[in-house]
Amino acid sequence: MTKSTPPPPNWKSWQDLIIRHAPELDMPVSEEQARMFAIHADELFRWNRKINLTAITDPTEAAIKHFLDALVPAHQIPDNTSLLDVGTGGGFPGIPLKVIKPSLTVTLVDATLKKINFVRQVIRTMNLDNITAVQDRAESLINDPLFAGRFDTVICRAFDALPGFVSLSHGLIRTNGRLIAMKGPQVETELKQLETLKLNINGRVMTARDRFSIDVYHYTLPVLGDQRSLIILTPDRGIT
Ligand code: SAH
Repeated sequence: MTKSTPPPPNWKSWQDLIIRHAPELDMPVSEEQARMFAIHADELFRWNRKINLTAITDPTEAAIKHFLDALVPAHQIPDNTSLLDVGTGGGFPGIPLKVIKPSLTVTLVDATLKKINFVRQVIRTMNLDNITAVQDRAESLINDPLFAGRFDTVICRAFDALPGFVSLSHGLIRTNGRLIAMKGPQVETELKQLETLKLNINGRVMTARDRFSIDVYHYTLPVLGDQRSLIILTPDRGIT
């Protein structure tokens, strides 16, 4: 039997669902922003028939797990700052964050050209400015002066375990920049690994625990009730 394609979403009620539930995450969404999310989702479902962008094909589930979920880290990202999303895939969380915080300068990176072509198409269709998509491996960015030490925030979702993410991205943030990892509910093992993870900071070797203050914020997705967490690494005062 062939897998049945879900019916095309009713975009008005899809947008209403987001608008109705966003306040539960303390991040209200306007009608215009919900309309932008719908453009992104519509492209996502179209392209997903040809290239693998997401395992989620149910529109309601996508509204919650892709778009509402992406609102949560917005609280941790100041206006008028630069954001790098590594392993952006179908543009998550970078594109919804740009929609919800238009003053951000956003860079999306993915190793797969097809995915970068997709996010470029979304950016064009939505007419967003100050957002660019780059095809590269995250590990290579540190060798590029346009990336090394340039970002106020580096974020990722479903990209790598914490030690890998911190190792490859700590050199991409400014001295006072932060790292944010969007995770499922189980983070204890990965957090423990940070205690012994060695980082080379300007020639000084220190553990990730010494370099960063680490905050964990647990939250629940609206409607579905799934548990998620944000790991936020901010530089420890006194270390420059
Ligand atoms: N962040 C998106 C996609 C997660 S899937 C989301 O949460 O929906 C992981 C993505 O990371 C894939 O798109 C894959 O192509 C990309 N990726 C994996 N290893 C990478 C690497 N070393 N450098 C850059 N991107 C990578």
